[in-house]
Amino acid sequence: MMIVVVSAGHSSKEEGAISGELHENLLNMHLRDQVVKQLNALGVATIIPPDTLSLRETIAFIKRHTYDTAIEIHYNAGQVSAHGVEAFHKEGDPWGKRLCENLCGNLSSLLGQRSRGAKSEIHSAHRRLGFVHENPHCVLIEAAFVTNPEDVGLVLRDDDGKLWATIVAQTIADHHSGTKVASYQANKCGRVDPGSEG
Ligand SMILES: [Zn+2]
Repeated sequence: MMIVVVSAGHSSKEEGAISGELHENLLNMHLRDQVVKQLNALGVATIIPPDTLSLRETIAFIKRHTYDTAIEIHYNAGQVSAHGVEAFHKEGDPWGKRLCENLCGNLSSLLGQRSRGAKSEIHSAHRRLGFVHENPHCVLIEAAFVTNPEDVGLVLRDDDGKLWATIVAQTIADHHSGTKVASYQANKCGRVDPGSEG
């Protein structure tokens, strides 16, 4: 059985990006719960790092577990006009790059999100992302910009993010099984666009 680690970025003690009433850590946990639900519905087992763990502790937690794929969910922050989804992989990791391309491509074609593309960690604000760097088969997704209410609305819609989570869960499961769906052909990922990070 496939096992996926689903981590919510930041922690119960560290909020991440804040914009008005929107607190990134709580948004991350909400989407994490939705993705876990959809993965479980597909028959995929999930491991959830506790919300109290720091990034360093989360990385150590993952190291102690057996899994096929790990994903950490974040929201971006930037100019009010900035919007879209982007996903990060370890530098020089074709497996992660392909998964990131598929995540962005499917969210773009099936949900209508702007794809900011699959990006190597070296194009992140810190040039290196611990979550994708330290353990194998780890990717990080920036679901939308907390600084753009419309962008957040596109993810959460009127279904609390269920469709978003369904697309993410299916993409991860397909990547594992090597399944190709037609929508993958339409993806616009791979473009490097160093936007602001959150
Ligand atoms: Zn974040």
